Amino acid sequence: MSENARGCSDGSCTRESCAGCEHSKESMLEQLNQYSSIKNVIGIVSGKGGVGKSFVTAMLAVLLNRKGYRVGILDADITGPSIPRMFGITGKASANEFGLLPELTVNNIKIMSVNLLLDKEDSPVVWRGPILAGTVKQFWTDVVWEELDYLFIDMPPGTGDVPLTVFQSIPLDGIVIVSSPQDLVSMIVKKAYNMAKLMNIPILGYVENMSYVKCPDCGKEIPIFGESKLGEIASETGVDILGRIPIDPVLASLVDKGEFERFSCDYLNGAAEHIEKCMK
Ligand code: ADP
Repeated sequence: MSENARGCSDGSCTRESCAGCEHSKESMLEQLNQYSSIKNVIGIVSGKGGVGKSFVTAMLAVLLNRKGYRVGILDADITGPSIPRMFGITGKASANEFGLLPELTVNNIKIMSVNLLLDKEDSPVVWRGPILAGTVKQFWTDVVWEELDYLFIDMPPGTGDVPLTVFQSIPLDGIVIVSSPQDLVSMIVKKAYNMAKLMNIPILGYVENMSYVKCPDCGKEIPIFGESKLGEIASETGVDILGRIPIDPVLASLVDKGEFERFSCDYLNGAAEHIEKCMK
């Protein structure tokens, strides 16, 4: 066993005291629901909320679904769940003797989110960290996903207790880190990068969201959040940039109408191909 950032190499650490140790990571993994079989689990991560993590999760899921793969989305952003809304899902999840059943989008992407379990979509989730993390674990252990080629996890934002527990509980095959061009966000991207490194989770690449706005009259790209720093971070960390998404009013309106599956842009086509190539 190799030595990790905390100098732990003999596997004798306890679960709580050593977040990055291979041994503790393995021992904390939760069992997938026995009626599910998932080939690839991909986490979509951001160092902070509001940069478009759910947006990127949904776009990648739709693109892989369009390629003919069986795709699910586990909405682990328990306090800010936006996935069901984007796909126009307002129904409630049901259950049978085998577990909790995900809802289906128009094109059969399977979705599980806390919003499918609440009485009212706008009820706040005022739970403490362990309950939040416990709910995400249940979406792994109790949901009957059946057979999936790709499960995309819209991770809880940040690098605190809840994302840490999710990183340790669910065997992620890779993560995509989402950022926006602001300086502040670039700094926070490195936190997400370092957390993934500490946890030994492969980083598939970066996606920059809200990169620019295209002038509807002359087509000029205007970097309203300033010039991107992601190129520098990418070369510093040796991680590829998989795609850049502009602020696009057409996409925003599809989100609001719950018709996100109908988008026709190609901003993340390269990212979807990359995922397809480097996963099982
Ligand atoms: P996060 O998951 O990081 O908190 P979201 O994906 O929920 O962020 O995005 C925040 C808001 O910004 C949502 O209303 C989303 O629809 C909108 N949004 C995100 N990216 C774009 C974009 N590229 N173009 C237009 N609207 C966007």
